[in-house]
Amino acid sequence: MSEKVLQTIKSSLLSKLELEADWIIAETRRLAEFNSGTTNVDGLNSVANELTQLFGEWAHNTEQRALPAIESVVAGGTLDRWETSPMLIFSRNEHAPLQLLCTGHYDTVFPADSSFQTTWVEGNHLRGPGVADMKGGLMVLLATLKAMSQTPLDSLVGITVAISPEEEIGSPCSAIELTKLAKNKHYGLTYEPALADGTLAGARKGSGNFSMVIKGLAKHAGREFFKGKNAITAGAEFATKIEALSNRDSGLTVNVGKIEGGGPVNVVPELAIVRFNIRVDQPADTRVIDTINKLAKAIAEDTGCTFDLHGHFNRPPKPMTPEQQEMFELLRSCGAELGLDVQWKPTGGCCEGNNLAAAGLLNIDTLGVRGGLIHSDGEFACLDSFAERAQLSALLIAALAEKTIPNLNSLLGDS
Ligand SMILES: [Zn+2]
Repeated sequence: MSEKVLQTIKSSLLSKLELEADWIIAETRRLAEFNSGTTNVDGLNSVANELTQLFGEWAHNTEQRALPAIESVVAGGTLDRWETSPMLIFSRNEHAPLQLLCTGHYDTVFPADSSFQTTWVEGNHLRGPGVADMKGGLMVLLATLKAMSQTPLDSLVGITVAISPEEEIGSPCSAIELTKLAKNKHYGLTYEPALADGTLAGARKGSGNFSMVIKGLAKHAGREFFKGKNAITAGAEFATKIEALSNRDSGLTVNVGKIEGGGPVNVVPELAIVRFNIRVDQPADTRVIDTINKLAKAIAEDTGCTFDLHGHFNRPPKPMTPEQQEMFELLRSCGAELGLDVQWKPTGGCCEGNNLAAAGLLNIDTLGVRGGLIHSDGEFACLDSFAERAQLSALLIAALAEKTIPNLNSLLGDS
């Protein structure tokens, strides 16, 4: 009898969300037409206010949490700090027996002066900045939560939503908040886009961005060349040595992405900045940073230049553990109820799912729309995926409730 209640709830969620497709798409388009590139604080603040209004209607508690300033090494080798927009935190039913953390971001990779600013439809594709990554995902999430709040499951499922302003640069400020919010939650759901064919991200590599600031000694190239200490050549030696630490078998990669420094060719250059990204499959491989520091020390002794490392692993690896596998299998069974064949595969890319996993929270992080060509002006979201992914999320939340709350059916039967 009571199992029938859950079945009835699920059917009503599915039919409700089927009818929400137009609303989800319209709101996605509206949000995507606000530029919210990670460095466009005014644009971010506008979107933050829109989201606060939208999610505020659903939430019991609403908060715009200020984040610490973002620090980065700038061209002169010094540290620059800039304030970003707040992290948005919404919650409902904080004392319910199932507690979920749903996350996303409202920044995009498109700066204020990008030529990609509007949305349009081409066949089954909605085109536009952030339609897939991830304003579309945020609206899929909101539609799911609103539909869920109108069912008897509502009081049994506690949800915290956290939406960050700087995911696209590696969540340097919100990562610590995500770790805090992950405590005492049962599962994490993140709304990055799935691939266009619906494939989700399984295991993810870990990633860190680093800047090595190398200082030498400037001298006139004609008069005192041998008294100079060339920061560029020291940096070049460092760059080739660290790149060589990459290992095809272990999946460890060190990519030197940018070298800055120098000036007039008749001066021995006193500054070089080597910027690099490290990706690892295994948590233990993050210790490569010790090797990198040793290499720097040896080159420093050899050349007389100083080496100063900035940066850290902001995204630890997210391995496919048996528990993670089990959560994916649960999603697969939800997909089957919708006639979808849910697949997942490992990726070298990173997202908030890495941070949630590192905080010990099982999570699936590509529950947003199906889409592609993200981070380019070809970005698209599949129109037929908006309602579909909301339905998939609703079924997943119902399944997680069934799995986590031992007497769920009797609780629903009594209500
Ligand atoms: Zn994203």
